Amino acid sequence: MTPTSPARQIKLKSPREIGFMREAGRLVAQALDKVRTLAVPGATTAEMDEAVATIFREHNAVSLFRNYPNAHRGKPAFPAVICASVNEAVVHGIPNRRVLNEGDIVSIDTGCRLNGWCGDAAVTLPIGQVSAEATKLLEVTKETLNIAVQAMSHCRLWSQVAALMEQYVHDNGMAVVEKFVGHGIGQAMHEEPQVPNFVSKALIKHDIVLEPGLVLAIEPMVSLGTKNVDVLNDFWTVVTKDRRYSAHFEHTVAMTVDGPKILTALED
Ligand code: MG
Repeated sequence: MTPTSPARQIKLKSPREIGFMREAGRLVAQALDKVRTLAVPGATTAEMDEAVATIFREHNAVSLFRNYPNAHRGKPAFPAVICASVNEAVVHGIPNRRVLNEGDIVSIDTGCRLNGWCGDAAVTLPIGQVSAEATKLLEVTKETLNIAVQAMSHCRLWSQVAALMEQYVHDNGMAVVEKFVGHGIGQAMHEEPQVPNFVSKALIKHDIVLEPGLVLAIEPMVSLGTKNVDVLNDFWTVVTKDRRYSAHFEHTVAMTVDGPKILTALED
């Protein structure tokens, strides 16, 4: 989501509600696991979209992405159940029939509502053999998400977690995209608070206390070159300004009395 004002109305979830969110999250994980098997040279992102739509339909889950309103007034709603963002695309790419080639990377983001509760996750997948630079981008972005989840077990405030994420990306000579951030999630996909992957004065002023019941969609977006982005003239696809590769990993994570729990993991 795009950062806006820091107004706060955080809805903490009970253990029972987190249990429902785990079921939605597990289905999202299963959908992404299916996509992983389709991510080969010659495949298309339209095929991936159809596979995820089928899984959601079979489980009576509702896509959180299809028909999501466009931030640009009067422009088309999102037409698919996955976002598929190839190479320089960061997020919000629209699936299509273009064939994926060896060396491409594709970020797949999807979410569903199951029995009234939401799950949201993303992975970036290599298509066949990719460059050493692209491999490192995927590793660094995935590890940035890991670092965040691990840090939630001992940090009291989100700004402490975001500082570790940002530091790790910079130590690897890459950039954190700042135009888009993670978010609270529950019965709606986008709830308060906003969850930036970097530290800002606004975050310090309106910090997030990591307490049991807090459920966040954490989603670092990392680029090889600039952090700055453009939106293509489809009014959805976000690309890096320098058109270098960008990656995106996301999990829905609940704070519990036993520490952070990934709700969009395939296995417990
Ligand atoms: Mg999200």
